[in-house]
Amino acid sequence: MIDAKATLAASGHNPNKALGQNFLADASALEAIVDGACIDGKTVLEIGAGLGTLTAALAERAERVVAVEIDRSLETVLRGNMARYDNVRLIFADFLKLGTGELREALGGGEVHVAANLPYYITSPVSMKLLRCGLPIESMTLMLQKEAAMRFFAKPSDKIYGPLTVLSQAAYDAKKLMELSPESYYPRPTVDSTVIRLESRHTVLPRALDEICSAAFANRRKTLVNNLASCREKDKVIGALDLMGFKHSVRGEELSAEEFICLAELLGD
Ligand code: SAM
Repeated sequence: MIDAKATLAASGHNPNKALGQNFLADASALEAIVDGACIDGKTVLEIGAGLGTLTAALAERAERVVAVEIDRSLETVLRGNMARYDNVRLIFADFLKLGTGELREALGGGEVHVAANLPYYITSPVSMKLLRCGLPIESMTLMLQKEAAMRFFAKPSDKIYGPLTVLSQAAYDAKKLMELSPESYYPRPTVDSTVIRLESRHTVLPRALDEICSAAFANRRKTLVNNLASCREKDKVIGALDLMGFKHSVRGEELSAEEFICLAELLGD
């Protein structure tokens, strides 16, 4: 395993806190994550390659790894650490700005497995992008801040229940793989982490789901009918709620992912 502390010292790179640079420094956690990711012979997308610790472990077992890293100042050390792997493609870019076409081309068009130790400061937008991008993502094994991980397991009416919960629960079954303490990273973060695994449910989701779901949570104080008035005729929304047996005063946060799927099917594009 790449020794983060020694590599940083040798390269003179100071971890960039603003980019969430807490590098994995726990060999048993690394092994458990790569085992849990089930990527043997698969195509893997990694977000935030850093020094290449996870990238190298993935490359040992995957068919190919496409790893995205925003920090150009890590390029020399990362390329050096990846030199012995001919199945790794490095993309130096902001993952949030990468087009799906470019990602698809780099990944080769087939099914994709995501594995990442996500930078804490953009966990939600990265997760939303993965859920919305339209790539055939079969599974995601994600290291996240503990609080951020809880969103994937939230229940209707929980404070943290929102579009991310609904979109992920609609498309994936989620389970927790392990908890990691700050000691597993260098430098140590101030928070605990959770490794989660999402596996595709292979459900064909209605195209309108994302739009309906985003509108439903736009203003949590408003009823679902009033929130959806921004994108659908009020009478149509009321008709759909009647069919589903909901009161007209229901709020978006009270619907489960399955109920959102049903509502999006009824409301259409
Ligand atoms: N994968 C490495 C590991 O496990 O040791 C590094 C993980 S570190 C928590 C997160 C990495 O994501 C950092 O290397 C950081 O520079 C990178 N990063 C931050 N924002 C990014 C973005 N928008 N796009 C791509 N990479 C990003």
